[in-house]
Amino acid sequence: MIALVDCNNFYASCERIFEPALYGKPIGVLSNNDGCIIARSNELKALNIEMGAPAFQVYPLVKRLGITLRSSNYALYGDMSARVMQVLTELSPSVERYSIDEAFVDLSGMEEQSIAFCQQLAATVPRYTGIPVSVGAAPSKTLAKIANHLAKKQPGRNSVCVFQEADDVELLQWLKKLPVEEIWGIGKRLGQKLRLRGIETAMDLREANPQQLKKNFSVLVARTQMELQGTPCIHLDEAPEPKQSIMCSRSFSTSTNSLNDLKAAIRFHCQNACEKLRGQNSLTQAVLVTVRSRSERFKGRAYDASAIALPQATDDTQQILHTAQTQLEAIYQPGVRYHKAGIMLLDLIPWRPMQLGLLESEQSALKEKGGKTQKLMQTLDQLNHKMGRHTVAFGLPVEDARWQMKMAHRSPRYTTCWSEIPKAKAC
Ligand SMILES: [Mg+2]
Repeated sequence: MIALVDCNNFYASCERIFEPALYGKPIGVLSNNDGCIIARSNELKALNIEMGAPAFQVYPLVKRLGITLRSSNYALYGDMSARVMQVLTELSPSVERYSIDEAFVDLSGMEEQSIAFCQQLAATVPRYTGIPVSVGAAPSKTLAKIANHLAKKQPGRNSVCVFQEADDVELLQWLKKLPVEEIWGIGKRLGQKLRLRGIETAMDLREANPQQLKKNFSVLVARTQMELQGTPCIHLDEAPEPKQSIMCSRSFSTSTNSLNDLKAAIRFHCQNACEKLRGQNSLTQAVLVTVRSRSERFKGRAYDASAIALPQATDDTQQILHTAQTQLEAIYQPGVRYHKAGIMLLDLIPWRPMQLGLLESEQSALKEKGGKTQKLMQTLDQLNHKMGRHTVAFGLPVEDARWQMKMAHRSPRYTTCWSEIPKAKAC
């Protein structure tokens, strides 16, 4: 079994911790430069203020409706996120962070106590951190996502919903009602294609003909079907991207205490994340770097994280990398052995031309710089696409670094790597 722990209205909850007068009040958190709403408390949702609403439309309502607007405080959110992860790791050895405010907790071997344990998770995290969470557990990640949704939306459940069996009557009833596009990883576009073939609900997908599914859709859909039936088969590496963020992280083959190793790992993940970001035509507004250690000297801090808002939404690897390296230096502790590092790009927005300053003299300089950066990034992506990942990269390449995956038994990359191309000899 697996549990998904999700912080409720995470940014708004962080704002409340140190300002208790905000409990029960509508709160909106604003994007970079206070442009638009990127996070809402339930009270703000109830006022029908939409996600992404421009701040200037909300300002006139602030006094009348008692709304509190806050600029985003990524340093606070990043630190609170690390604290939540730390509490989870203290309660369970097997925690995988999925996004800034969500983590999967492996419950294998504790099926019998799963309900009590999930209740413990839901009670302990808010007691230790002040952040309320919802916990959903089920035999697979996809079903745990659904259980989590019910834990959050149905008040009678007290923030916990556990389905020990994939054939649970209540779960089946819910699957019949759940629109197919709302399943984890399916989404609107794929949902439309499934609907054309008569698959409209989660139950329809669960019971669809597997051969037909494999023939007409990707392997992800086939796996999602198995997950809906209760067979876990989605690993976190292949899991759908969390909403409005991109995450790249990996465990090291052996732990390391070298800042240079960590920097190389962050550089590697950062470049992958930025390539993904540009591939989907988005800009990021904040960067979160996380490291993990089992070391005693980490004093129970299983995770450490630091997040920073970018001065302007961007897709420029140089800028994001620079921010990430600065953050890493801030959280790095000499003498601690780390075994995982990663980066998250947060609060993505669709690509748009760079906002220019007000002064005309500034505008032309910024425009020229922005244009050059954009061309550089395009060239970088094209080269790496054509010649193989990381053919052109920032910084010095590190071969066989400790933070790389163990691949002692990998066969040569015959078709994608020039140095490993098969050699033919004429005798
Ligand atoms: Mg959440």
